[in-house]
Amino acid sequence: MRKVATVKAIYDSDLKQLLQNLGILDKLIAGELSCAVCGCLVDLDNLGTIFPLGNDVGVSCDSSRCIRVVTTTGVTT
Ligand SMILES: [Zn+2]
Repeated sequence: MRKVATVKAIYDSDLKQLLQNLGILDKLIAGELSCAVCGCLVDLDNLGTIFPLGNDVGVSCDSSRCIRVVTTTGVTT
């Protein structure tokens, strides 16, 4: 749960800047990103985790199940 807390902690300060730097802010706002675990739509309201996924950046929703999968087992492809 530590990574989740990190996301929440930076949410009000520079999360958007971080997302911009990662190149996924526009996709998030446009609704083009989906949870790597359950496949649901992820936007700024339900963003749970951010993690490297190959050469790209993966995200998960804020469901406790999905966050647990990402933070404990990781996501492969
Ligand atoms: Zn999910």
